[in-house]
Amino acid sequence: MGRKESEIFPIEKALEMILMFDQKGKIFYTNATAREKLEYENDLCDKNIGDVFPSTFKISQDGFETELVFNSQLENMVAYRKNNTCFPVEAKIVVSEEMPETYICMANDILEKEFLGREIEQVKQEAQQAAKVKSEFVANVTHELRTPVNGILGNVKELLSEEVDQRVEKGLRIIERCCGDMNKIINNILDFSKLEAGKFILEPRKFHFRSMLDYIKAQHINKMTEKGLGFFMTVSPQVPEYIIGDELRIGQILNNLLSNALKFTALGKITLEIFRTAQVNDKIELFFIVSDTGIGIDKADKDKLFQSFSQVDASISRKYGGTGLGLNICKQLVELMGGRIEVESEKNRGSNFSFSAWVGVTEEEAALLQEDDRKESFVSSFGIGAFGNGAEDTANVREYGTKENQENLKRTLSKLILCVEMENWEKAEMFMETVKQLTEGAPREISRLVLRLKMAIQKENYDKVSSEYKELIKLV
Ligand code: ADP
Repeated sequence: MGRKESEIFPIEKALEMILMFDQKGKIFYTNATAREKLEYENDLCDKNIGDVFPSTFKISQDGFETELVFNSQLENMVAYRKNNTCFPVEAKIVVSEEMPETYICMANDILEKEFLGREIEQVKQEAQQAAKVKSEFVANVTHELRTPVNGILGNVKELLSEEVDQRVEKGLRIIERCCGDMNKIINNILDFSKLEAGKFILEPRKFHFRSMLDYIKAQHINKMTEKGLGFFMTVSPQVPEYIIGDELRIGQILNNLLSNALKFTALGKITLEIFRTAQVNDKIELFFIVSDTGIGIDKADKDKLFQSFSQVDASISRKYGGTGLGLNICKQLVELMGGRIEVESEKNRGSNFSFSAWVGVTEEEAALLQEDDRKESFVSSFGIGAFGNGAEDTANVREYGTKENQENLKRTLSKLILCVEMENWEKAEMFMETVKQLTEGAPREISRLVLRLKMAIQKENYDKVSSEYKELIKLV
């Protein structure tokens, strides 16, 4: 006793109107919303449901008459206020299971709902407009910044081409480097605002894939050597010579991932691996993996990585610099290429960034690749011995150390590691079997490594697999 009505009925505070009435149609409970909307004080409880919804409930001698089906879906009804003005509602009337002979009406003001909907739409449009204005402003400002930066850079370069004393030259070199860094930031912000505004267009054309990779490598190798880091690049033989894609943007993603790997690794090595993972007519999917042995990333921080302006923590930006835009741009570019970017990492145990991208190949190349795949699936489904028509082919592929054997071994190993990267251990074991067959008769050093790799795969030990794999690939 003594408890307030709102405690007894939590529905008192519900946002929809709630009215309860008995078999005679007499209303005996209303919540605050119902009283407010219908503009009654506490006198609504003496009314009949037919007073509120006269077109749905006719007051009769027995109480009320209605054609309404109780417990069904929402009905459109008209609610009358105390002053006889009305408004449309969406209502549902149910027969209470807990309280005998009780009907519960739940109703919502349709006009208010529509009004709210319109208001939300308007707020959304205003937010979109504000974001557009902001993006355009950022794009304009960054564009304007480019001119003075390039002006400084041009003049510095000119001064550097003249004879200057050592102290001045040192200063000029610093200005030159700062301008370069500033240009990188400006370009990142420009790309970012274009991507955000949906105005970014890829420019695919045919290019020599391995030359692009060599160019990328050349941009980082000096710094890597300076830091004493090893760099290993593996391109699966199944990746064609030429591809049709946006060379600049594929390079940009790789540059970003390699610069990060370099920035966050003090000891060990960086590897870049590229595979062809799928083909549909003249489109192929390339799969890139950039691994490092650096500071790694905490599990909790991994989700934040691809968001814009996100760095793992403030101390990172103090120590290593950067704007936190790089990975977000990479993610958006990869998505424009129909792919996905992911990270596998553990604090202090290095990081593994991978991404896929769909690119084109010429018609002839597509036919050649499909032919290669057919041959290979023949090899793996029938075992190595069934390869080709002539016995000589078979012997060559099997005989350890021959050119064919070597090529096939490398191809199988690439596939194996790809399966491991994708955590498809079952398939990895299948390729392992082929590797074992292909290394029959190999020197002991290799056979032992093969066995160790096999064991690591059976144990699904990722770290061990990748270290054994790297050893093996160096030797075969
Ligand atoms: P930034 O331009 O600041 O480097 P990115 O978007 O490229 O921005 O990277 C965001 C953050 O992700 C970095 O500040 C760093 O905390 C983390 N990160 C990226 N790559 C690596 C890596 N290879 N190892 C460790 N942390 C990384």
